[in-house]
Amino acid sequence: MAARILDGTAASAAIRAELKPRVDLLRSRFGRTPGLGIVLAGNDPASEIYVRNKLKTAGEAGIRAELIRVAAEAPVDDVLAAVASLNARDDVDGVLVQSPLPAAMGDDAETRVIDAIDPAKDVDGFTPANVGLLVQNRPCLAACTPSGVIELLDREGIRISGARAVVIGRSDIVGKPMALLLLHRHATVTICHSRTLDLPAVARSADILVAAIGRPAFVTQEFVSPGAVVIDVGINPVSDETKVRGWFPPDSPRLAAFAKHGSITVGDVHPGVAEVAGAITPVPGGVGPLTIAMLLSNTVRAAEARLKG
Ligand code: NAD
Repeated sequence: MAARILDGTAASAAIRAELKPRVDLLRSRFGRTPGLGIVLAGNDPASEIYVRNKLKTAGEAGIRAELIRVAAEAPVDDVLAAVASLNARDDVDGVLVQSPLPAAMGDDAETRVIDAIDPAKDVDGFTPANVGLLVQNRPCLAACTPSGVIELLDREGIRISGARAVVIGRSDIVGKPMALLLLHRHATVTICHSRTLDLPAVARSADILVAAIGRPAFVTQEFVSPGAVVIDVGINPVSDETKVRGWFPPDSPRLAAFAKHGSITVGDVHPGVAEVAGAITPVPGGVGPLTIAMLLSNTVRAAEARLKG
């Protein structure tokens, strides 16, 4: 039987609609809407698309979003100066720096920039202060993608407490905070990574399996226990026609999309998993739209905390 599709686009729209009255209340009580400052260094094409999307979606939610651009060849100090200016502004509640930074800024640039963000405005939830609070299960601004996954599970009525959850991936932005959020909701959590032995067997123990790996179609049917909930965080552009034809059935609309564009975005989960799983997030239209909804949610939350004190 085919898995139930967990519709991230619909959940994202619902989350954003629920923010509207909170934004309106801030406007009427404090005379201004939440403000989001985004710093974009360089002109990576994917980052340009992500940032444009964030600016547009924020505007639709009544959040005033602005962009500070830093040249690709500029030193990291220019990014730090942009962050400092946003930190200092009263009308800016959220500050984020689009990743990745240009390689020429140095290996430690991302860390230095994250460390410079005011934790009260850290709407990506990446600063050590917010990560520490998350570890201790105290109120904080938590990373957007894993927060979105929790929202989706809740809205779809999927029970987390007591579930066996397996997270594949241990990055600071997805895997680790995902595991912590599931743990705080009383799941029994296993974190897997590139050195995990017998990964398919460990993954098969999951009631809730989260794939955050960055490898297209990596999680196949042998990773999935029948009826499990599968959350596919991966966003992988693929332009190899042979691979794409191997993953999708001949009548799949994804193949038509590939023929039209010469590439498509594929998750970390093989399309065949939908025949085994109980529920699954699609790519696109699953976790991706939730990430941006949670960014806006964190921005409203930061504004409420700053304005209401
Ligand atoms: P990352 O490269 O920082 O981390 C990948 C993790 O996968 C690592 O911890 C690594 O140990 C693990 N891994 C790599 N190869 C493995 C293997 N063979 N077996 C087991 N584990 C392995 O990536 P990330 O930033 O966590 O992102 C993961 C994926 O999620 C990417 O496709 C990224 O584009 C996507 N992503 C999506 C969203 C969204 O909004 N949907 C947000 C962030 C990231």
